[in-house]
Amino acid sequence: MLRAFLVLSLVIQPVLAADLPDLGEVSRQYFSDQEEQTLGRAIMRDVYVDPRYLDDPEIESYLNQLGYKLVSVSPRNQREFTFFVVNDPSINAFAMPGGNIGVHTGLLLAAQSESELASVIAHEISHVTQDHISRMIAAQSQSYWPTMAALALALLASRSNPNVASAAIASTQAFSIQNQLNFSRDYEREADRLGYEMLTRANFDPRGMSGFFTRLQRASRFYDSSAPAYLRTHPLTSDRIADMEARSESAPYLQVQDSLEFQLVRARLRAQENSPLDAVIALRNTLKEKRYSDETAARYGLITALLRARQFKEAEIEAQKLAATKISSPLIQQLLANVAAASGNQTLALQRYQSGSAIHPGYRPIQYGYISALLAAGRSNEALVQVNKQQGLYPFDRRLWRLAAQTHAQLGHRLLSHRAQAEAAALSGNLVAAIEQITLGIKAGDGSFHEMSAAEARRREWQETEKAQRKG
Ligand SMILES: [Zn+2]
Repeated sequence: MLRAFLVLSLVIQPVLAADLPDLGEVSRQYFSDQEEQTLGRAIMRDVYVDPRYLDDPEIESYLNQLGYKLVSVSPRNQREFTFFVVNDPSINAFAMPGGNIGVHTGLLLAAQSESELASVIAHEISHVTQDHISRMIAAQSQSYWPTMAALALALLASRSNPNVASAAIASTQAFSIQNQLNFSRDYEREADRLGYEMLTRANFDPRGMSGFFTRLQRASRFYDSSAPAYLRTHPLTSDRIADMEARSESAPYLQVQDSLEFQLVRARLRAQENSPLDAVIALRNTLKEKRYSDETAARYGLITALLRARQFKEAEIEAQKLAATKISSPLIQQLLANVAAASGNQTLALQRYQSGSAIHPGYRPIQYGYISALLAAGRSNEALVQVNKQQGLYPFDRRLWRLAAQTHAQLGHRLLSHRAQAEAAALSGNLVAAIEQITLGIKAGDGSFHEMSAAEARRREWQETEKAQRKG
């Protein structure tokens, strides 16, 4: 299915390129919604096995929350978006087909306000909602076909090969294709204009946009040949800056406060820099000398570093200081519970996860922790109730599938445990492992008639996909 679509699009699109619609009109003739979603999910499976992908549920959750706040005020918000973090100190953000938007840790740390970060994300969202990527592929066919073809082949090769290394190579190509896609000036201006509207509607300071880009341009003078990655793919012209400034001038003055979560996420990233001990010393000094903009975030960072350095006693002392402030945030609640769990205080950990889960029911990272804590305490039936509830809401969450596998294993459900492991493997891009796991489950023979036939149907589906990919 995926292969057929890619080959078709490679052949047909150059022909369509001649009668491209005007910029103002959005045409979906290049990719159907379903094709784009399929390609988007395939790309994400490669991203997840890439060593640069930052597997941090808290930071990822924050980014998705911010991203969806902007998407929800965009005029075209029907699509599925996935925001993810790339562990890379350079200042960059990029959009890939299928509504996948990557943000470098360097950008998260370099932004001087949440509005600045939001302005870059809003700009990327607009490239997606305006179909700039597929239009560009269609319009500038000749030079892009080899790259698109290479990307398609690499994605397909990685599907049929369980070797993580080759999957990583494929996703390197998925990442690097973005570098080939230098957006045209018209696309840049359109993304700026729509991004600006999104910022205002979502109550961010629209001055964040001109502020950030002006600073980026100034910085680029010192880089010379190695301009920041972001400027290579989103050419910044004096026209663009002038437009942004003109728009900002007419905007009413807004004093927008950064969210606590923005501060916490940055503190979390800083706590992960350098060696654990160096991070502890640096953050302890920051707190002692009051060199922070937000004390809560500074303490949150210190506790994160203490956990990394395995100084659990100190971490609990600081955690109690943080708890005493009564400041409510899912990230704080999660960290307090993590401290208790890491220091082996099962009762306190469960208590903190449970109250966190009750106060912030929609916050997935805390649910992961809660389910793990229930399993650690041997309360498998309660864990199953939580897993089922969460999976009803988020059926494509690979982390939840892994927890479901553990839960069923603890309950002695062999088929269901292998089935869950298989689903997690499939969502992480490893169909061979998925087929192996589901086969083990079917052989275990402890499923009901319905569970068995569902598992067999799923295995046939994966086998067919895997066979098609191997041929491709
Ligand atoms: Zn751009």
